[in-house]
Amino acid sequence: MKLAPVGVAALIFSTVSQLGLEMLTVLFKYVGVVLLALVLHVLLTYSLILKFGAKTHVLSFYKSITEIIVTAFSTSSSNATLPTAIRVTNQTLKKRSDLVNFVLTIGATANQNGTALYEGATVLFLAQFYNIELTMLQQVAVVLLSVVAGIGTAGVPGGSLPFLVFVLFSIGVPVEGVGIIMGVDRLLDMSRTVVNVVGDVALAAWVVESEK
Ligand code: ASP
Repeated sequence: MKLAPVGVAALIFSTVSQLGLEMLTVLFKYVGVVLLALVLHVLLTYSLILKFGAKTHVLSFYKSITEIIVTAFSTSSSNATLPTAIRVTNQTLKKRSDLVNFVLTIGATANQNGTALYEGATVLFLAQFYNIELTMLQQVAVVLLSVVAGIGTAGVPGGSLPFLVFVLFSIGVPVEGVGIIMGVDRLLDMSRTVVNVVGDVALAAWVVESEK
């Protein structure tokens, strides 16, 4: 974990050295768009679920799960974060453990909102990069395939990359485009894993509330 920041910088450096500085600007914009989308998803979608579904104070909820957020960010793995997520959600939020354990365990593999969002944005980015105009129908297909990919993705670092290749291939975008985003993927992986895990915890809180 201590080496992670250096490792991420090294990965980005290798991409820049191969593709040039201009490419870095394009990649920065891509990373910015994905991060902004992830933040908006947490601030809007999850906050609404927490406020109106789980009927909890949104800010204190986020504060109480800081340990989960840090673990997800540093491990890039929903599965590795599962024990921490179960412990913190049960202890700190004092929710019903049978429901919490059930929802979080399924969520760790089948509820990957951040991943679905990232895949959609990445496919659109690569299509634009290769100057491929996607029809409305293809864009709808990207959304649907990304959601399915989010459900099927394993909760491990880089778990979504095989699905990303599959989605790119299905809509006719060159799959070697994955190599372009590889250098910055670790940072995005850390971020989307946080969104994936926070989504599981928010939904667990909602289910517990609805079962009262
Ligand atoms: N690392 C992500 C997770 O564990 C999966 C992925 O998007 O690659 O949730």
